Amino acid sequence: MSQTLFEKIIARQIPADIVYEDEQVLAFKDIKPQAPVHVLLIPKKPIVRIAEAKSGDEAVLGHLLLKAPTVAKKMGLSETGFRLVINNGRDAGEAVPHLHCHILGGRPMGWPPG
Ligand code: AMP
Repeated sequence: MSQTLFEKIIARQIPADIVYEDEQVLAFKDIKPQAPVHVLLIPKKPIVRIAEAKSGDEAVLGHLLLKAPTVAKKMGLSETGFRLVINNGRDAGEAVPHLHCHILGGRPMGWPPG
């Protein structure tokens, strides 16, 4: 199967502005930011989307969620707050078939989301 865009970023085949990396996850700035801070946090394991995660993925999913505040803090959001978004499927606007968690902040967020 061909590599997704995000697998190519993990492999450094295409450039990204990486802000955090460890053995299980990578975080980089979104190319089309929707807020003053907009980072994508992804597992290095190519899980297609959250609805396709398996029971064996608990550790990596837990690690991903635990690292979101670490990345948010690194981006200066720990005092003001941040929003985490995972789009799953067409109606949610999912565009890249590699699980990713949007970390958004730097401005007040509206609710309900668009
Ligand atoms: P989603 O709509 O939830 O699938 O989000 C995909 C996100 O990937 C969008 O916010 C895009 O702006 C972002 N994106 C697409 N290509 C790149 C890239 N080369 N580097 C960083 N972010 C990207």
